[in-house]
Amino acid sequence: MPNLCQNTGLRLSFWKIGLLAIWNAVCGGPLQGSGLAYGKALPWKAISYHIEGNMEALGLMKLEDGQHGLPWKGRVVAVIQAQRSGTKELVLDLEGRWRVESVRWNDRSIPFEYTKGRLRVMSRVPLADAQICTVEVVYAGYCIEALKPPWQDGLVVSADSLGYPRLGMTCQGSGARSWWPCLDDAAQEPDSLSLTMTFPAYAAPSQALARRNPSLAPGKPALLDLVANGRRVGDTVVGNRRTVTWKVTQPINLYNVTFNLGRYARFVQPYADPQGVERDLEFFVSPEDLPQARKHMAQAVDMMTCYEKALGPYAFWKDGYKVIQSSYLGMEHQSAVAYGNGFRNNEWGFDFILVHESGHEWWGNSVSASDPSDWWIHEGLTTLMEAVYLECRDGNRKQADAYMVRMQRKIQNQKPMQGPRGLRFAAHDADIYYKGAWMFHSLRNSVGNDSLWYSILGSAYQKFALQTITTEQMVDHWAQGLGSRYKGTLQWWLNHAELPILEWEPVVSLDASRAVLRYRWSPTAQGFYLPMQTESGLLLDPQPGRWQEVVWPSPGEAKTREGIMDAMRAEMKLLDRRYLLKVRMAQRVQSLEKKGTGMDSPSTTN
Ligand SMILES: [Zn+2]
Repeated sequence: MPNLCQNTGLRLSFWKIGLLAIWNAVCGGPLQGSGLAYGKALPWKAISYHIEGNMEALGLMKLEDGQHGLPWKGRVVAVIQAQRSGTKELVLDLEGRWRVESVRWNDRSIPFEYTKGRLRVMSRVPLADAQICTVEVVYAGYCIEALKPPWQDGLVVSADSLGYPRLGMTCQGSGARSWWPCLDDAAQEPDSLSLTMTFPAYAAPSQALARRNPSLAPGKPALLDLVANGRRVGDTVVGNRRTVTWKVTQPINLYNVTFNLGRYARFVQPYADPQGVERDLEFFVSPEDLPQARKHMAQAVDMMTCYEKALGPYAFWKDGYKVIQSSYLGMEHQSAVAYGNGFRNNEWGFDFILVHESGHEWWGNSVSASDPSDWWIHEGLTTLMEAVYLECRDGNRKQADAYMVRMQRKIQNQKPMQGPRGLRFAAHDADIYYKGAWMFHSLRNSVGNDSLWYSILGSAYQKFALQTITTEQMVDHWAQGLGSRYKGTLQWWLNHAELPILEWEPVVSLDASRAVLRYRWSPTAQGFYLPMQTESGLLLDPQPGRWQEVVWPSPGEAKTREGIMDAMRAEMKLLDRRYLLKVRMAQRVQSLEKKGTGMDSPSTTN
């Protein structure tokens, strides 16, 4: 997902009303939903799902509670496996404006109870461990409109630039349970999934849009298409009804399951992967945007090359790589990336939505967090990939480092990146993006060994590909690669809102001929370890609460005590451009003559 907290600046006028409420809703806190049993090991695992949706029309209706929804009839067939013997009860998540019409267990109707977003059914007999069953749920109701996709999400109902319908689904916040019954637990992913949608085959452009924009020529009805995750395996048009089926054959996060409906032209960008295998990168865009899109999306070839070289092969070639033009900014839907950034590059010369959302195919879709409290893995590492791409494209770090420095301003340090597990809690503010990326950037600068750092980054991906993992697994992997002392460093950054403070003080002789730099981590930074190097090459290894000294190398160049102190100040100030920390100068300046051998801790400013 792109970061809302970054994009508010772009859309401030739109956001004036209710910005705070929206911020609170999506920038931290428990996600929507009951989460009654969330986080406990479920007695079932879903092996596959088949979802069917039927939309008679593509317009929204106003519901009694003021929400808007699109009438929807659905059917889901889940193949599930008991995770322990004696299992009888199955509880599926389905939240929102739904009624359940029937449930069949292994093709026999059974009674069910549907309350408070939980659909409970009971097997007639206890199951054996690993026994497999099929459960079919038929349901109907309304898909609720997304208010500000992808952050306040749901069904996106909009129009393309010529006024034809454009619909989409995005549900990272509201969950797959907001539109189909499922075991909605981040810790498990089905091995395969298919989606069949039936919808009006043809639609005319919106008259309202034509009235608002008289320059638009009245449009004729156009054939609508539907693009979803995986490969198209079925497509029929009968009269004014079109039925399309897409299938995913690899594990998928449920929040990544999506569809895009509208007028699309398809084009393919040929791509030879690092092993020389010919692949297709597929794009679905508005027909009128085709020439611009073809030119703009050529950068996807460089991007894929860089990602595959840095991390390892794209995991989902069997399901394809697709980018689909959307009416919202973007979303990392697996093998069906939603893209709505208007074919624009940023000042660094790349399209950060394309690069970010595609980066999630590695971090988020292949390596997936097993709990939303671990979402820094998705966002931090994907944000880091933007800089990795820039470095790869340029062949040097210069612009990538500047990109990281620019990103640093957005770090907020208001709350820890990791939240409590098992509560569907997501600390979804800017820090899981930028601070998350900066952790790894700082580690790189601390170890000063690029080949080692890149090998740990790549092996993290390869080790955890196509799995759901915890924060602890990712932290342990980096600590094993870099050294065990870095474990406390990552844990400190993840579990504290504030940054560790590097305190320092200058100690200079009265005649300015000798100078010493004293430094330490503040006593609160217990367990934090981050050796570093200043711009002029001084090596510092601060200890929490314990002052260290290093001789200032060139006091002769600055003729006065003030000159030396200014030089020290300038050097120390630059440290936070390379490391994730706060630098603070001690209040008192000592002279070497007065200090003698005593090394009392100075008081510090706040
Ligand atoms: Zn993201």
